[in-house]
Amino acid sequence: MKVDLKQVEEACKELYIRALKILPPDIKEGFARLDKTETDATGKSVLGTMIMNIKVAEATNNLLCQDTGIPIYNVVIGRGIEVDGHALKQAIAAGCARATKEHPLRSSVVHPVTRTNEHTSCGRLVPVINIDFSDEADTLSIEMIPKGSGSENNSWLKMAIPADGVDAVKTFVIDCVLDAGGKTCPPTIVGVGVGGTADLCVHLSKVAATRPLGSHCTDPEGAKLESELSAVVNQLGVGPQGLGGDSTSFAVHVETAATHITMNPVAVNMQCHSARRARATFTPQGLSYGF
Ligand code: SF4
Repeated sequence: MKVDLKQVEEACKELYIRALKILPPDIKEGFARLDKTETDATGKSVLGTMIMNIKVAEATNNLLCQDTGIPIYNVVIGRGIEVDGHALKQAIAAGCARATKEHPLRSSVVHPVTRTNEHTSCGRLVPVINIDFSDEADTLSIEMIPKGSGSENNSWLKMAIPADGVDAVKTFVIDCVLDAGGKTCPPTIVGVGVGGTADLCVHLSKVAATRPLGSHCTDPEGAKLESELSAVVNQLGVGPQGLGGDSTSFAVHVETAATHITMNPVAVNMQCHSARRARATFTPQGLSYGF
């Protein structure tokens, strides 16, 4: 299948706007689940306000949160897809810039030294574009994630000692959740990367943080860690917006990679309660939108 880059540009514009306005169903279900189990009066009240915020935003065609985030596009190219890779990246950036100018949206992206804002949500190496490949025939998938800074500012990496084993991983995750407190706009999805190199470990923590609720690590050891840590973080008392309660996190998600015999890297990246994402899928049957 030959990819129509004009259609990609349009879709990437649409994806940014959709992601900012429509919360995925799995996150809404996560809210409903936490709302049922929250025992703290303040926590319950804050959760209620968040749930109301989602309803009002969607009913009034408004943004779920003022933070338009740093734009991330995750591209997965299936078998038989014909596309000029460089032009694909240009089309994604053009769609991102058009969403910002034409909607319009607040551009939250600046040069790291001059702090100049181009008012396009774009800049050097931004939008972040991750490209991967799958064996799905004639399918191009683009997922858009506007990653909020409150959650992104709370990112950590520790090159732990191998002799300290998985206990070092668990302790580090708990320390990070406590350190973040209310700064990550909880309830969060706690993304954990275990293994790899320093950069791969941090990347995996982001992949984990932005996975849909209800999905599980495909490595059984990672899945075991997910279930243990998910139960523990909600006993820390951080609660919605850090104001106390049981609902600190929707879940802890883990991704793993093989590592060096003398390394034990662990990274944590948070996704806030405004866990926004949107997906466009291109097939010979046409373009469809989802999560
Ligand atoms: S961290 Fe999330 S909920 Fe908090 S301000 Fe940023 S985008 Fe909004």
